[in-house]
Amino acid sequence: MPTVILDPPSKNKTEEKQTAAAAGDDDDEDHVTSAIRKTGCFKFHEKLQDCYIEKKDWRQCSTEMQDFRRYTDRERIVPGSTEHIKSGLEWARIKPDEPAVIQSERVELYRKHLVTLFGKLNHQNQPHIYRCFCTIDRLMLLRHECKRRSQPYRYDGRCKELSEKQQHEYIQQGLPHVIRFSLPTDDKGIQIYDDLVYGHHEHNPYATEGDFILLKSDGFPTYHLANVVDDHLMEISHVFRGHEWQTSTSKHLLLYKAFNWQPPRYGHLPLLERERGRKLSKRDAENAHNPIEIDYYRQKGYFPNAVLNFIILCGGGGFKDDDTVIGKTLDEMVSLFDIKLFSRHAAIVDFKKLAVCQRAHFKREYQTSKEGRQKIIEELRQNVLHYFPEKNSTSSMQLQNDYLEKILTMIDFRIVLLDELFTNNLYEYLWKDPELKKDLIHDVQQFKFVIKYTLDNLNQIHFTHDDIKQFIENYRPNKINNKEVFRIWRLVLCGCLQGPPVHEIASFFGPDIICKRFKHALVVLDQQNENFPV
Ligand SMILES: [Zn+2]
Repeated sequence: MPTVILDPPSKNKTEEKQTAAAAGDDDDEDHVTSAIRKTGCFKFHEKLQDCYIEKKDWRQCSTEMQDFRRYTDRERIVPGSTEHIKSGLEWARIKPDEPAVIQSERVELYRKHLVTLFGKLNHQNQPHIYRCFCTIDRLMLLRHECKRRSQPYRYDGRCKELSEKQQHEYIQQGLPHVIRFSLPTDDKGIQIYDDLVYGHHEHNPYATEGDFILLKSDGFPTYHLANVVDDHLMEISHVFRGHEWQTSTSKHLLLYKAFNWQPPRYGHLPLLERERGRKLSKRDAENAHNPIEIDYYRQKGYFPNAVLNFIILCGGGGFKDDDTVIGKTLDEMVSLFDIKLFSRHAAIVDFKKLAVCQRAHFKREYQTSKEGRQKIIEELRQNVLHYFPEKNSTSSMQLQNDYLEKILTMIDFRIVLLDELFTNNLYEYLWKDPELKKDLIHDVQQFKFVIKYTLDNLNQIHFTHDDIKQFIENYRPNKINNKEVFRIWRLVLCGCLQGPPVHEIASFFGPDIICKRFKHALVVLDQQNENFPV
């Protein structure tokens, strides 16, 4: 028996807008659409917990594809959304154990199950479900009235009283309608269950809201109906989803009762927050620096396992500490996961941890897997061609495996993404001769002296790290101190003052390039002599 995990799109606070044919523009619509269209990282969060549970011998996992737009009558199916979710899961190497359930292809199935409830009564002798013909105008008035009285909005259940004859007439007239679930109004409406994360939970949905919609006027189910029918048919045993769904769970339990089905067990996971007290939102999804869509990280070149580590570290728990997660593969995380360590605290998304996870996997892939190493080198080569397309036509040294490997060894995982070697000015010297910045030259004569001395004595160096280091340390022309000599070497070779140790850079380049750059620096200094203070 499988477990479902993929989170439904965010809940819409104005569910009544689904009513009738008049569903108009909705503030939340874009948010919902984008949540469905894009595979958000944080939907993966729950998917991951599911993988652990599966391996910890509970069940398999499966995927529901909520691929339709739920809050508007226009453009229901979002093209490509299913493929998008699938490819995101594939990239992250999360394999559902059975074919995905495509909800938009099951609309008839949901309707078929729903109509079995017609004519059935609950313990209060009320129908389990009923047709509601209220227009959007009436619902708006109702909403305003509730607001005026400072009461929470609740549908007043007027259509529950419609006779069969009236309903028949309205249908004949072609009036649009939705189907609502009739909530028990007494204590039996209180739903008590043992949340797998939060423990004892009880809630009476009637106390806070009115009869909710199961089927919209366009015949599409709401999440409440679709998830209950799907989970039942797929024999789902455990459901983990975001904490915001906890109050809806009581509605789902009532629906299971009406169908006379056995409900799954539920666990709700703490919400992820961008900062304390503010949950991740549409604004975060659009944040250019750290968007919450998985695609962004895939395209940027993050390792799938690094992203998975990061998502786990964002919260929810299940692990002893951060070090139990960082640098681990999905399978390793699965074996280290402990359901007893689930956390109830809202978690802060800390993007600094993503860099730590990425570095850990960068190192791991490069150092321990031949295949991983080759892949990284090839990716670096593709980057060279991307940033310097002209090199494609030459047998450039900078495209050779040796050179690329030497770069990666020297950089020693100081970078997070390969891209930085091209976009960060600090690494420009790897690809082209550096520019000598005059404002970094304290004393031109001294600078020139060191260059000349170096050129005259280059043949004495054997170009191992230690040899170069010793060479620079030992010569004290004109009593110039070592620090200044190292600084001059760095400026001539790199054009900047940060980076790996000078002797490493020097041994990386070797005598030919060192000679070339020192000579070039001398020419530049001579040419621009008049511009430099002497
Ligand atoms: Zn109504």
